[in-house]
Amino acid sequence: MAQRMFDKVALIGIGLIGSSLARVIRREGLAGEIAVATRSPATLARAQELRLGDSYSTHARDAARDADLVIVSVPVGASGQVAAEIAPVLKPGAILTDVGSTKASVVAQMAPHVPDGVHFIPGHPIAGTEHSGPDAGFADLFEGRWCILTPEAGADAQAVERLTKFWQACGSKVDVMDPAHHDMVLAIVSHLPHIIAYNIVGTADDLEYASKSEVIKYSASGFRDFTRLAASDPTMWRDVCLHNKDAILEMLARFSEDLASLQRMIRWGQGDKLFELFTRTRAVRRSIIEAGQDVDAPDFGRHVASHPERS
Ligand code: NAP
Repeated sequence: MAQRMFDKVALIGIGLIGSSLARVIRREGLAGEIAVATRSPATLARAQELRLGDSYSTHARDAARDADLVIVSVPVGASGQVAAEIAPVLKPGAILTDVGSTKASVVAQMAPHVPDGVHFIPGHPIAGTEHSGPDAGFADLFEGRWCILTPEAGADAQAVERLTKFWQACGSKVDVMDPAHHDMVLAIVSHLPHIIAYNIVGTADDLEYASKSEVIKYSASGFRDFTRLAASDPTMWRDVCLHNKDAILEMLARFSEDLASLQRMIRWGQGDKLFELFTRTRAVRRSIIEAGQDVDAPDFGRHVASHPERS
């Protein structure tokens, strides 16, 4: 067990990410008190049944009051409204962070509300599953995964160091970068794959000549791997698309050009070029396994990687 790092941690939002944080904070003893806030009574009641916190409220302000660390884990489109609500009660010297999948938009929405003396250090754990809500979380979610922090230039170095140590205690490795760079990198490694998955699953669902039952019956030939991503939370992904628009459109333009080139290789029977591309992409998969970001199992190791306690 690590040692206590904060007297009071406020978790605003208690879905997959917030509840995973609650579980790992509790397991590692990182906080004297965990205050949970979520907007709906139903989610709050479930969080309470799961004993995710020490105090509970449907008002973010109640949880944030007197907290030394406030972690906002709501869809990125709601982060400005949450920041406005909690700003008046934030304690001087407190660290305010988030876990949103886009960063420039979150900074633009939250920073104007942050009072002087509060350290605002946005963050994004690169860890998740296609499930949502307080039942979906698990303490090992962040184990061995990266967390990216995007502090403003001139941010308090000690506060950044404290938050870095916190994420390390949750099992993560930590990188620091600027929000615009984060958004461009995540557009290719996360946002585009989800958009492609949503698109291909939508296309298959629209097909007239393959019945739905055939699509499902024969899905093991490749299709099912896209359906995991395409089952991700619609609210979260609507917000990601709307809040990282420029970077996503830039990556989609490149993707479309490359797809046109691949289409030409197929049309003109350019087997050598196809073989060369597919060999290059296979090496990328090997690098991911070597970097410990997936395991070389036929099901992509997901049962092992994302739910070790259930394997
Ligand atoms: P989730 O499981 O759907 O939970 C969302 C939480 O936010 C719930 O507590 C929900 O409250 C609350 N919420 C939803 N809409 C809200 C609104 N308009 N105003 C205030 N609160 C609202 O979501 P999650 O997967 O934990 O994602 C949370 C954040 O983490 C998102 O910004 C996402 O981009 C980021 N993230 C997600 C993943 C992933 O794989 N899922 C990975 C990394 C980062 P109620 O249930 O009470 O309505």
